Order: sequence, then C-alpha cells, then structure tokens
Amino acid sequence: MLTVWQYGYQQGNRDQMLERCAAAGVTDVWDVRFSPWSPNPDFCLHRMKVACTNARVGYYSVTDLGNPYPRDEDAMPWSETVEALRVLYGKAASKESRALATLARAITDGRRVCVLCACKSQIQCHRFVVCEMLARLFADGLAVEPLYVPAVKQRELFGGCGT
Ligand SMILES: [Zn+2]
Repeated sequence: MLTVWQYGYQQGNRDQMLERCAAAGVTDVWDVRFSPWSPNPDFCLHRMKVACTNARVGYYSVTDLGNPYPRDEDAMPWSETVEALRVLYGKAASKESRALATLARAITDGRRVCVLCACKSQIQCHRFVVCEMLARLFADGLAVEPLYVPAVKQRELFGGCGT
C-alpha cells in the first residue's frame, strides 16, 4: 500500500520539519494552506521554497486545496466544516478535485508526499479531510501517516498525579 504523510509545522521549527521529512524519506511537500503566509517568515512561501530546495525536497504551494472556511467556531462548528470540505473536494471536475487527482498521480508515480498545513492538531485541520478524500482515489487504499508523533509526557501517561 502506498503512503502519504501529513504534518502541521507548528509542531516544531522549519529545520525540524525538514529533518522529519528526511527521516521519513519524503520527496515532496504539498503545502495546502489557503495562503502560504505565516507571521513566522520561515514558513512564508519564498523561504519555504528555498529551504526545501536546499534540502532536496520538492515544495508545492497548492492553494486549491486550502481551507476556505476559516476556523471560527461561532460561525461553523468543526463537524460542519468537515462536511463542507468533503463536498467541496468531492465535486467532479472542480479545481479542488483536480488538485487531488494530481496529488494521487504523484504518489502513484513514486513521490513520497507530505501534506502540510500550519495546525498542530492533525484531527482539527483540513489536511485531515484532504488526506481522507485523497485516500478514496486509491483502489488498494492509501496509508496516511503522521510525519511526527510527539512523545507522550510522563504526566499524561500516569494521569498527572504527584507534582
Ligand atoms: Zn490546518
């Protein structure tokens, strides 16, 4: 079964992101932010492109797979956002579904792709829906792996007792 990785760069700095890509053998980063901009200049389009190129990783800003529904829990609860995204990405011949098809082809052609967003959470981020809809394009399935699994703190493991 083929694999796609997913990552939220707020889980570390840019060097850590690239180290984690190298460890997983990722060849291409697909940045699915609606806008490839960040208050941290390291994660803005140009610097991302340069850093990835220097690390011999392909960098693609794919705004067609961005989340047009900003996280505003008062406006739309997350479950509704997920449903709206599924409809959007599933529309035949839309720019979104074409972008998913291009991504699926890259993976079939042997590219090892990491789908990138900013969000720390891998569940409450639209990349989760991108990967879900992408996996549907693979008859034999597609493994979706986190690029990085944070170590569980002792405190969390043992219920936070004591100190
Ligand atoms: Zn996100």
